Amino acid sequence: MLKFDNVALDYGSFRALDGISMHADDGELVVLLGANGAGKSSIFLTTSGLHKAAGGSIRFGERELIGMKPSQIVRSGVIQCPEGRKLFPGMTVLKNLTLGAYVHRADKAGNRRRLDEVMGLFPILDQKKDVPAGSLSGGQQQMVALGRALMARPKVLLLDEPSLGLAPLVVKQVFDVIQQINRTGTTVVLAEQNAFAALRIAHRAYVIESGRIVLEGNRESLMNNEAVRRAYVGG
Ligand code: ATP
Repeated sequence: MLKFDNVALDYGSFRALDGISMHADDGELVVLLGANGAGKSSIFLTTSGLHKAAGGSIRFGERELIGMKPSQIVRSGVIQCPEGRKLFPGMTVLKNLTLGAYVHRADKAGNRRRLDEVMGLFPILDQKKDVPAGSLSGGQQQMVALGRALMARPKVLLLDEPSLGLAPLVVKQVFDVIQQINRTGTTVVLAEQNAFAALRIAHRAYVIESGRIVLEGNRESLMNNEAVRRAYVGG
């Protein structure tokens, strides 16, 4: 289980996360909803050890992640797929994917097996493995970003706005793949502004405003919540 207790984060004198307490059970798909600037990316960057929390605790199983180095957090199985994909556009698709396995580079056979699994999940990437990642469509680039994260062997996958900038049909494909990844046993925490698509595949969700959790519920309760509908789902 990934468990946040009263997590705080400051950017200088600005408190970006103000007492975040939430959790994702093993095998769950948990969605974080929030407008631009609500604090979703800050939660992930703190979880991955890229920003230093000002207080609180983030436990993954028996481990306390706050204070661990980003590389140790990756090794523990908590893997972030960043907003905006952050691919190396001039490198081939294959190279981008294998970079995801960097911390496991000694296990060549394991990485080959993993690569086969990723190519099985995204056949288009197998076809495009030798072309520069930057030449792919937005949806295909998001597949590379997901594939790279899978190469790191996640137990928990932190996905930061994977639908950003994608056409509605492509968004559906990406979310279907995320659901498939979750169903094969990977815990997923998904930050999204695209609430409808995200809630469709969620077990539970949290709504974040100005660095605080203002609402928590399962898919049905949030889909039917008037405030959530007005703010995020539409209609
Ligand atoms: P977005 O979808 O725009 O990424 P978000 O919900 O992920 O939104 P964060 O990026 O976590 O939000 O930002 C939370 C708040 O912290 C915002 O007010 C943002 O302007 C501020 N912020 C984020 N990064 C920094 C930084 N490096 N320095 C100062 N303030 C920051």
